[in-house]
Amino acid sequence: MEVGYVYDPIYLQHDTGGHVENVKRLEAIISHLEQTGLKQQLTHIKPRAATIEELSLVHHKQYISHIQDAAQRGGGWLDADTVMSPDSYEAAIYSAGGVLRATEAVMDGEVDSTFALVRPPGHHATSQRAMGFCLFNNIAIAAKYALAKYKLERILIIDFDVHHGNGTQAAFYDNPQVLYTSTHEYPFYPGTGGIDETGVGEAKGTTVNIPLPAGCGDAEYLSVFEQIIVPAARRFNPRLILVSAGYDTHWADGLALMQVSVTGFSQMVRIIKGLADELCGGRLVFTLEGGYNLAALAASVKATFDVLLGNTDIEDPLGQSPHRFPAPSITPLIKAIKEIHNLV
Ligand SMILES: [Zn+2]
Repeated sequence: MEVGYVYDPIYLQHDTGGHVENVKRLEAIISHLEQTGLKQQLTHIKPRAATIEELSLVHHKQYISHIQDAAQRGGGWLDADTVMSPDSYEAAIYSAGGVLRATEAVMDGEVDSTFALVRPPGHHATSQRAMGFCLFNNIAIAAKYALAKYKLERILIIDFDVHHGNGTQAAFYDNPQVLYTSTHEYPFYPGTGGIDETGVGEAKGTTVNIPLPAGCGDAEYLSVFEQIIVPAARRFNPRLILVSAGYDTHWADGLALMQVSVTGFSQMVRIIKGLADELCGGRLVFTLEGGYNLAALAASVKATFDVLLGNTDIEDPLGQSPHRFPAPSITPLIKAIKEIHNLV
């Protein structure tokens, strides 16, 4: 398997100082991939800048100018969570462009699968609002671009970040060509992602939300993948799978209260890779969203690459959750979601 990764030091120019979403995240990932020798097994893909036209597939032109102007004025806070530095606009257009290149590399057959190691992240950004550390919605832009450029009939987006990808959901809420599935802690930031949010018009049923109570771990996530995401994906039959890979679902992450381990992430990725192999010729693109415990983030990203490469020996240096909370029962929730989406 040839696996590509997108990375460029431009992503470190988005300088958020002591903010939890900072340059140390990508530095930790790259240094771990180097130290473990994994980087040598990967094909480097250089990102490009997304054009205004490409950003406009998801964002209003006025909003794009607003972000560009904010950077030119020296940056600052866009909302209570989201901060910019003078070079953040440049980093953000390369972040969006990095996911575009990752998608092109897979669609053009340069590599089998890719992981875009980018920041700022994207899944909270809406058409006209920055939020949740996100400026442009990288994965939504890539999905719209792939639909248009490669004339794909259907794309599946799987979002396992611990937060709901409200921006991505909104971008495709009325678009039957994109199935958006999200597992997320709920109720939690940003507040959206209830089971009854399923899409509108012809797109009814193409948003599948799996709002999970705090405390879910590997077993709960695997049940959800096997019982909801796999059958929903098979029924939708995508031509390409994009993944919002957020590792703030890890038990050691300080931003949320889930209990997934590195091993758990590797099992989810194995299921996702299995779906890509079965349904769409293996075409699979990951993009980095959250993940704020540096050791957990680096080990989880490495485990993701290991699965994509077909390596079977998965290192989990942090081990299983010490179970700060008892795992909740989610059987009734799974049943309710299966009923809403007619998954039997
Ligand atoms: Zn997150």
